[in-house]
Amino acid sequence: MKTVKTLSEFKDIRDHWHRQSHTIGFVPTMGYLHEGHLSLVDQSKRENRKTVVSIFINPAQFGPNEDLEAYPRDVLRDSGLLEEKGVDAVFLPAATELYPAGFSSYVEVERLGDVLCGASRPGHFRGVTTIVLKLFNIVRPHYAYFGRKDAQQAIIIKKMVKDLNMEPVIRTLPIVRDADGLALSSRNTYLSPGEREAALCLPRSLQWAKSQIEAGLRDAAAVKKGIRDEINRQPEITADYVEVSSLDRLESLTTVDTRNTLVAAAVRVGQTRLIDNFILGDL
Ligand code: AMP
Repeated sequence: MKTVKTLSEFKDIRDHWHRQSHTIGFVPTMGYLHEGHLSLVDQSKRENRKTVVSIFINPAQFGPNEDLEAYPRDVLRDSGLLEEKGVDAVFLPAATELYPAGFSSYVEVERLGDVLCGASRPGHFRGVTTIVLKLFNIVRPHYAYFGRKDAQQAIIIKKMVKDLNMEPVIRTLPIVRDADGLALSSRNTYLSPGEREAALCLPRSLQWAKSQIEAGLRDAAAVKKGIRDEINRQPEITADYVEVSSLDRLESLTTVDTRNTLVAAAVRVGQTRLIDNFILGDL
């Protein structure tokens, strides 16, 4: 596995692969890898001749009072996991090279980035789309892999790729969970054992909603109330948002559409913000 830290070194490798007509699969991450990330790597390995994983904690997607400094890091461990998986290159760009002094160009997907997580994290998705566009320009992948754990992010990236006639095919993969149901997240490391136990109300509430919808419930207000009630049973947890939206436009729904719905929630557990969702339809 090649460990690449500079853009020029990466471009040489990429050009070499392109000349050999190798397909390149790309998995962008912020590191502190877990089985959710590795499921994307596995899929890329299955579908491409070469697989690239980037590890970059993107300052442009963190708000001023968010956890940029505290975000967990362990590049050595991550590299070991990627090596074991047979990844071809791990790309570790420096923030100073991606955002040199005077950097001033951003890409923004209108509307889709203003709701759900975008409402609580202004500017977050502008930071995400900007870094993904930059990394796509550097890596020039044929396929790129994203998790449905960040369903809104995947929807926004797909829209950017479509609107801007970009080349990579976007693949999205299911949420990987721990045995207790909590969606894997690098941020789970912030949780104390007690907080982690309380946080299980998030997947539990969504599981409840899913089973109600399977049993025929279509009233979005009732779905949202049920989710909130389950979350509110835990005094240490506060709901940031609970939404039932269309999957394609992320517009709030009054009636669940079993072919086009995203049921998503974000909660705060102490200092930690956790998200989870399920989708009805194709993403
Ligand atoms: P991050 O390192 O948090 O930026 O995540 C990198 C990629 O891994 C994103 O496409 C995420 O959606 C995906 N991902 C994170 N957690 C999970 C999970 N539990 N299951 C599936 N994909 C995930």
